[in-house]
Amino acid sequence: MSLRLKFNLVLVIVFVLGSVGAAIYYDRYLEEYALDNVRQNSQVLMATAIAVRGYTSDNIKPHLDPLNVETFLPETVPAFSATEVVRRLRDRYVGYDYKEAVIDPTNPRDRASDWEARIIEQFRNQGGTEVTGFHGEGMARTLYVARPIKVTNPACLACHSTPQAAPPSMLKVYGASNGFGWKLGDVIGIQLVQVPVFYPLEKARQTFYSFMLSLLVIFAVMFLAMNVALSGFVIGPMARLNRKLEDLATKDFLTDLVNRRRFFEQLETAMTEARVKKLGLSVVMLDLDFFKRINDTYGHDSGDMVLKNAALRVRELLRSSDCAARFGGEEFVLLLRETRIDAAAALAEAARAKIADAPFGDVGTVSASFGVAEWDHKEDGHAMITRADKALYVAKETGRNKVVRAEPPAA
Ligand code: GH3
Ligand code: MG
Ligand code: MG
Repeated sequence: MSLRLKFNLVLVIVFVLGSVGAAIYYDRYLEEYALDNVRQNSQVLMATAIAVRGYTSDNIKPHLDPLNVETFLPETVPAFSATEVVRRLRDRYVGYDYKEAVIDPTNPRDRASDWEARIIEQFRNQGGTEVTGFHGEGMARTLYVARPIKVTNPACLACHSTPQAAPPSMLKVYGASNGFGWKLGDVIGIQLVQVPVFYPLEKARQTFYSFMLSLLVIFAVMFLAMNVALSGFVIGPMARLNRKLEDLATKDFLTDLVNRRRFFEQLETAMTEARVKKLGLSVVMLDLDFFKRINDTYGHDSGDMVLKNAALRVRELLRSSDCAARFGGEEFVLLLRETRIDAAAALAEAARAKIADAPFGDVGTVSASFGVAEWDHKEDGHAMITRADKALYVAKETGRNKVVRAEPPAA
């Protein structure tokens, strides 16, 4: 796995874990925040309704009661005032609602629906002072707050005990069949406030998506910047350093040929390939003749120049699949892929001529001796090199500046 891949994997894992954590936290936080606002609004609405109720019974009812004898004025009923005030509020705050839901109301519009009746039953059975929850689906979904309406004021019974005790004007409007039989201490209904939650939750969701999107954009920019920085500050310099180290470990700096170590690596690879594909494979050893004399006569620098140029001349004859290495001081070895002994000897002859036929500047003519061996597909690399070396020795012994083919390996 490359360094960049590892690095990016860590970045992505950190981002995914971070954003999943942030998503879980902010999704809950934003929804809770939105619901908190809704809860607060519902409490304000409930407090407003209670305030209107109180104002009606304390400040309105006493003034209007004398007129109530002739014609019943619903404005004297606290529940009626509170319901009407919130109804006007709804013109601006759509979906907000206040209702005094009663099991057996005087005014039929206050009759509790099934789900409201269930809440009333809950207060009757379990007591309590407030219940909150959600009601409805989709855009009509609301958060509700319900408080029990308990008959605690004996004055209530004036209108709600028996039709006989009730004001005739009220009976004229609402009849004698409903809204009676209430007793002190009875939970007869609930004050119910409803505040819509769809839009606040939708807004919370939008905020959540914007937040996640900005997180993604920040990550994408950071990802790109980190990758650019990684290339510029780490991978690029490291690759250059690696190439340098590789060169130091495998190249000869005077001749620019590969060194002995890399040559044997290449030889192993070439032998494997030749074995699999059943191809010919040959090596050529060459050693400059009387090189010591050149050093002694013209100096070490001239010796270096000859080494460099001899390597260059040999190299010009090679294919890209071949390999030339500096084997020792003034000794070279060539690896020739897909080459039988005849072609290898021909190439060695061409190299010999190329070195010997043109002078090396002030040093003049230089020659080299060659030993050529073809791999028998059995011996190891070192054995083949030894055979080529022996042939080179024979070339030296028999007059130099010549190519000698190696003996086949002993059976
Ligand atoms: P022969 O024909 O038998 O090969 O004789 P020779 O003189 O070429 O062989 P010998 O082994 O006696 O001498 C090789 C010389 O090569 C000795 C050494 O100083 C020289 N030499 C080895 N490496 C370098 C190098 O990098 N630069 C230079 N200028 N000389 C080198
Ligand atoms: Mg020599
Ligand atoms: Mg030598």
